[in-house]
Parts: sequence; structure tokens; C-alpha cells
Amino acid sequence: MNYHILTLFPDMVLDGLNTSIIGRAADKGLLSIEAINIRDYTKEKHGHVDDAPYGGGAGMVMQAAPVCDAYHALCDRLGKRPRVLYMTPQGRVFNQKIAEELAVEEDLVFLCGHYEGIDERALELIVTDYLSVGDYVLTGGELPAMVMIDCISRLVPGVLNNDASAEIESFHDNLLEYPQYTRPEVYEGMRVPEVLLSGHHKNIETWRREQSIRRTLERRPDLLEDANLSKKEQQYLEQLKSGDEEKIR
Ligand code: SAM
Repeated sequence: MNYHILTLFPDMVLDGLNTSIIGRAADKGLLSIEAINIRDYTKEKHGHVDDAPYGGGAGMVMQAAPVCDAYHALCDRLGKRPRVLYMTPQGRVFNQKIAEELAVEEDLVFLCGHYEGIDERALELIVTDYLSVGDYVLTGGELPAMVMIDCISRLVPGVLNNDASAEIESFHDNLLEYPQYTRPEVYEGMRVPEVLLSGHHKNIETWRREQSIRRTLERRPDLLEDANLSKKEQQYLEQLKSGDEEKIR
């Protein structure tokens, strides 16, 4: 996976991404991250990349030419036109499914806006996907790009030490993950659930699935609509919903 981030603040994204798991994956060559400074592509003699909006109004708008020129220079270098993801509060809200869809691409371009955003004509010319991190407004697209790159990278084979762990985490099967515990067995008088100490893999698996279902019902019931549940798990969910604790055990 090769990430190309078009930004006015290259240090911000590189400092954030070149650490910990993602940084190590880049060192190992499992992925590459480059930040392209849009300002390097301005033809304006003072290095300006923004101007006042036509029609008036607050703030400045990033001009189309430096953005498009930066992208076209990248395309010439790569010999292809990779997908361009524009970070915008007006986009589809990013989630695990979108991450899975993007993780199969070889190259991804993240376009980060700033100020009041980017001239619409640049967006019409080069953007393929409009993506948001949520229904709130940030000062720039750099943090959203970092969030998405972190999430997508965890799905790239070899990035996590244990590939299985990405498959049983929250949002897999549209369920939240079960509670996790580590040493010591007792902390502040609270014991680790007995089943986890039993060494009985089948019982542990069943307990974890049930905890996932219970937790999803409590915290994100909206996810359950598309959850992939067996008949027995469906019954367990119905019992939880009806509050029938005795039958639940
Ligand atoms: N005027 C724009 C609007 O109302 O849609 C918002 C501009 S925002 C202040 C500046 C830049 O931050 C945007 O161009 C975008 O790249 C980024 N941004 C802000 N909020 C975002 C969000 N929720 N998701 C993704 N990108 C966001």
C-alpha cells in the first residue's frame, strides 16, 4: 500500500504517522507514506495557495491550480491515476467497511483541505471519493487522513503482528469486541471472569461472542441490524432484549 498525502502541512502528517505500528510497517516496506506539499506547486511568486472566495464571505479558499498540478505531477511519476480521497465534512462517514474496501488498493491519494476548503473545480477534476470522519468541522484534512491511514494500514497483511486480531475486533461482523483482561487475576477486588482461566477454548469462544452481542446491544444497538448471528446467538439476543436473565443463565 502506498499513501500519497496532498497537504499544506507535510510535517504534521509525517510526524504523526511515522511512529509506532504504522511507522514500523513503513520501515519494513509493507507500506509507504509520502507527503506532497501543495505549496511547492504554486506559480504565485509569494507562494500563496489561497485567495478570497468569489461572491464574498468569510475565510480563504485553496486555489485549484496548485492542487491539480500536484496531483498531475504525482500521476506522471506513477504512470497511473490513483483514487483521490478528499477529506471533507460533506463526505460519506468513514467506517470499517470503507477501510476494508480501500485496503485492497495499491495507491491511495489523500487530499487535505484547509481554510474554507478547496476550489470546487479542482474537486470536480480529480476527486473520486468524498470522505468524512464525522459530523463535525475540523481546521484541516490532515487529522482525518491520519485517522483513515491508521485504520486502513491495520488491514494490510503483515502490519499487525497477529493478523487474526484485526478480524475479531470491534465492527467485525457488525459487533463490538468482548471485554479484555490481562494479569493480575484480581485487581481492586475484581476477578477476571472464571471462564477465561478455564483453558476451555470452546466455552471461551461462546462467552466472548455472547459478551460481544450483549455489549453491542447496550452501546450500539444500531449495529445489530446487520450483525452476522447464528440461530442460537439470535435467540440469545432476543432473550437479552426481553430481559429474561434466567434463560440467559
Ligand atoms: N467550509 C467547509 C464546509 O463547510 O464544508 C469546511 C472547511 S474545513 C474548516 C477545512 C478542511 O478541513 C476541509 O476542506 C477538509 O479537508 C477538512 N475537514 C474538516 N472537517 C472534516 C471532517 N469532519 N472530515 C474530513 N475532513 C474534514
